Formats: sequence, structure tokens, C-alpha cells
Amino acid sequence: MEDGIEGIDELLRDRLLIMVRDRSAINVLPHVRPRTGGMVLTGADAPVRCREIRNAFPGTVVAMDLESHTREVATAEAPFGLRTSYGWRSLGLTELNEILDGQRENRASFAVTPTCFIPADETGDATVLKAVITEANRLRREDTVVLLPCSYRWLQGVSLLHLVEQIRTCRHPVALIMQADEDPLKRSRVPEGLRQLCRSCPRLLLWRTDLAAFDAMAHGALGAAVGASAVLRFGVAPRPENGSGGRKPYTVVLVRRLLRYLRVATLQDWFAHIDPWTCDCAVCKGAALTRFTDSDADVLAALQHTVCELYALHDELDSTLPGHEREDWWRQQLADSWEHHRLLAAQTDTEVSFPKVLQAWRRPSPLPVPMTEKPRRQDRSGPS
Ligand SMILES: [Zn+2]
Repeated sequence: MEDGIEGIDELLRDRLLIMVRDRSAINVLPHVRPRTGGMVLTGADAPVRCREIRNAFPGTVVAMDLESHTREVATAEAPFGLRTSYGWRSLGLTELNEILDGQRENRASFAVTPTCFIPADETGDATVLKAVITEANRLRREDTVVLLPCSYRWLQGVSLLHLVEQIRTCRHPVALIMQADEDPLKRSRVPEGLRQLCRSCPRLLLWRTDLAAFDAMAHGALGAAVGASAVLRFGVAPRPENGSGGRKPYTVVLVRRLLRYLRVATLQDWFAHIDPWTCDCAVCKGAALTRFTDSDADVLAALQHTVCELYALHDELDSTLPGHEREDWWRQQLADSWEHHRLLAAQTDTEVSFPKVLQAWRRPSPLPVPMTEKPRRQDRSGPS
């Protein structure tokens, strides 16, 4: 049994997964590093794609996120559920086991719980979160990651202490999704809260995220899953229309030296009068980052470029020792990014502001939550 627990932790340690819709999986696959990377598939065809990819490339890590969190809110009575062709189904322990077995039968490298969305803790006693962890701890299996799709407010104040406490009691590695109406890291105290969480919980994966994956891994997170498209870079509150897709995305690229995603149209504005920056990744081969149009082929090429650049950055992280060396490396990346922003503004004579999230990451890190610290109820009454 203990071997199994170590097995899944070792499988996930320092791993950078790319979260991608079923229809884009095959196009992303060639750019995923087999040894240090992998994929998390979403969408109705995720099980089929997972089986195909794992049959053809048994060495590639692939898992799936069934996205129950985009469709239903968790309750203490029904923390897990699934949309089926017969409608919504809440899952008891037996059915939950069947769903996890089903993922493994489709050759997923590990199973992921279909957890429903965990809203902000209004009552202050973390009832729903506790129900998720308690039920997951009844699973007698060592191949499963417990998904925690949480409101960003779990990263703030006393809720963070509850979150740390619950993740520490979990028998399985945990994958955290942060939900907000827009980038959750723009909310006050969330970047600090996430760092504190990562430093306090060594079996934490950051899931459905962006470059926060690197800040998290620099601060002790086990691994991360970065979204290939904008909608897969943070959690969304459940809505009936979620998952239907449809909206055509505008073209976005990762600009590694700036540590940020940018619309190609923005880059074209910035580089209207000077030579545009080029990229040496396997997709760009020295071409300009401003070249991408809104055509389907270019949207795909931009995605492949972004995946290449994520792994180039991850190679650097992966070559550092966890702890101070890795934190120093990340601090240097942020300092370089600040310098590139400054230079770019000077060269292009345009306003290039340094994003708030990057500013927050340049600040000193909070200490981990001590093992003994117990969250208190969020009231202001005197000592009892
Ligand atoms: Zn490139």
C-alpha cells in the first residue's frame, strides 16, 4: 500500500502537464516532453483520446478532468457527481470508485476525482471541503488525485488555514483549481495565499492554471497542469452552458522573456516601428512572434509555440534543486522579466506596464502554516 502512495507522488513530482481539449490533444502531443511532461484531457472525447494516446505512447503521462466542477456545486451530501447521457448523477463511494476505475480502464496514468465546485466557505466551518476529503479518504486506492475546484476566497484569511488543514489530512495528492470571474491571482492576498499553501502542503498540484504553475512549483508544489487555452487557465463557476465551447479564441502567445501571455494584436502594436522579437522554439525556428494571424492554422501554431516555451522554462526549473536554489532561479526570472518590460517600453516608446501578478511574485514569500495551527471559526467573539 505504502509503495503505491509513493508511486503516484513520484509520478507527479515536478511534472508539468498540459491541460487541453480533446480535439487539440493530438496537435499538442508532439511538443509534450515525455519524461517531465504529460497531458490532462477535457471534453466528451477525453476517454477515447486518452486510450489512443496511451496505446500509441505508453510512456506519456495522460489523465483526464471530467469537469464536473464546471457544471454543479458540491454539497456536503453530494461532493462528487457526473453529467451522463441520462442527466446529472451524484456519486456515492461505489459509483465514485467505478468512475475512477473507468478512467484507468481508458489507460489514464492516474485517476482524478469528479469533484463538484466548492464555493467560498460562508459558514466558516469548511463543511463541504471536509465532506470532499472525508469521502475521498474512504477510497482504498493509491492511483487517485483528489480534485479541489475552489473559489479563490479559499486562498484568503481563515479559509486558507482550513484548506491547509484539510489537504494535510488527505490520503491522496490533491489538485487545486482556483476559480474567479477573471484571473484569480488578481484578487488581493491570493498570490501570497497560494504560496503559503504550496509551502505548507507538499502533495499539492496546481491545476487548470497559467504561469502560476512555476510560482507554485518554485514554492514546493508537487506539480502542475497548465491550460492550453485561456478558459483552461483558471476555474469557472458552474453554469448550464459550460463545456459547450463555440467561441472562437483570438490568437494568444506566451512571451517567455516577459513571463506572460499576450494577444498577438498587442505585440503587433508594440512592434509596429521596430524589429519584432523572434523565437527559437521548434515551431517558430527564429520567426517573429508577431506573425500569427487569427486563422485556425496560426491559432494552432501559436498554441504549439506556447507549449514549447512552457517546457523550455520548465527544463530550467527542473534542473534546479527544490528549495532555495529553485526559488532563487524563479526570482531571477521575475527580475529579468521586469528588466525586459522596462527595455521594451523604452525601445518602443509605448506604455508596457508590469502586470500586478508579476509584481506580487517579486515580493518576499510567506512562511508555511505551522503544523499545529488550527483554524478558528470566523467570529469576533472573545476567547471561549
Ligand atoms: Zn516559438
